[in-house]
Amino acid sequence: MMSRRKVLKTLSALPVAGGLMGTGLLSAKTLETTVTQTAGRNFFKELGVRTFINAAGTYTSMTGCLMRKEVTDAIKYATTEYVNLDDLQDKVGERIAELLDCEYATVSSGCFGAMTIGLAGVICGMDNKKVSQLPDTTGLKNEVIVQKGHAIGYTHALLNTGAKIVEVDGVKELEKAINKNTAMFWFLNANTANGKIKHEEFVALSQKHGIPCMIDCAADVPPVENLFKYTKLGFDLVCFSGGKGIRGPQSAGLLLGKRKYIEAARLHCPPRGTTIARGMKVNKEEILGMLVALEVYLSKDHEQEWKLWESQIELISESAKSVAGVETEIHVPPVANHVPSLRVTWDESIVKITKEEARKQLREGHPSIQTVGGKDDIGITTWMMDPGQERIVAQRLKEILANA
Ligand SMILES: *Cc1c(COP(=O)(O)O)cnc(C)c1O
Repeated sequence: MMSRRKVLKTLSALPVAGGLMGTGLLSAKTLETTVTQTAGRNFFKELGVRTFINAAGTYTSMTGCLMRKEVTDAIKYATTEYVNLDDLQDKVGERIAELLDCEYATVSSGCFGAMTIGLAGVICGMDNKKVSQLPDTTGLKNEVIVQKGHAIGYTHALLNTGAKIVEVDGVKELEKAINKNTAMFWFLNANTANGKIKHEEFVALSQKHGIPCMIDCAADVPPVENLFKYTKLGFDLVCFSGGKGIRGPQSAGLLLGKRKYIEAARLHCPPRGTTIARGMKVNKEEILGMLVALEVYLSKDHEQEWKLWESQIELISESAKSVAGVETEIHVPPVANHVPSLRVTWDESIVKITKEEARKQLREGHPSIQTVGGKDDIGITTWMMDPGQERIVAQRLKEILANA
């Protein structure tokens, strides 16, 4: 075995460490000290990666959400022991099903992963030969029916199985599209308004034709009730992101619903290797983190949290509006990202800065603040902020607009 000194010496020969050593920034001695003392290290600063106040929301590009201490404690705990992966998934699946009053559940690699393994489970059932055949769907049911207004980029999760998407518009087209290759119906909750068929009718059609149906609810808590609602409505499979409103690990998600499909979905997951989802691994850390995030989410005072978000948005709104020419609108998206949100806009002949430039100044200032928006407005939410940061956002926004 290599001694630690030897390892450090080897490390020093590597391009990055070696390069740093060449500049005198990092000697073997300091590297040794650095790697043994992680407490208080500012890793992002060391790497030159900027952190920011998240006034945008739960975006994958912005690393999603911050986990609560209970969750990171559970993750830390998970790192200290070995367990059998399947045993843990079995037990956590039962526990989540109990918490959410549904038949069964499993922790997936995000909502996207839940969609892939869920459909794979529907296509292959408990047949291991079929499991290892995917993504080749020869001889297997391989069509997923989706309403036109629901066919967005995330349907790629379904294509991962080897299945294809059949787009339909309305009941007539849907019923006409059904054939012996139809595997599943898929519904995008966030786009409910864009499809002619709503939840109840969609489920009724699925049951009438004996074809299972899945719903994507990725970003659809709050409200907390949604975690229960869609399994009760009769969707066979319900997919949520773990790292959005639930504030679990960003790399985790939930697949809820019928036991027979979820047990079949598990056949595609690690530790099994000859499968399409071998790379969609969740380990004990994500599994426990997801469970605890869910427990914490279910037990919190949602009304109080809503009031906090409202008051934070109100504060930022008032601050922005105090600049002449600036207008604000407080709104709540009806389904996904259903939280108090602010839209800030202004007359650029009075406040002489474009929306993009103002967002850039927010992003590049100190501290850095990330928002959303386009040519016409700046969009802000506070649900992913630490308490108190709303005051910084309010002040910076006002400063930038007042100085323009
Ligand atoms: C975020 C999102 C996904 C992907 O979820 P992950 O948890 O990041 O895998 C899928 N569908 C919709 C509608 C989403 O908003």
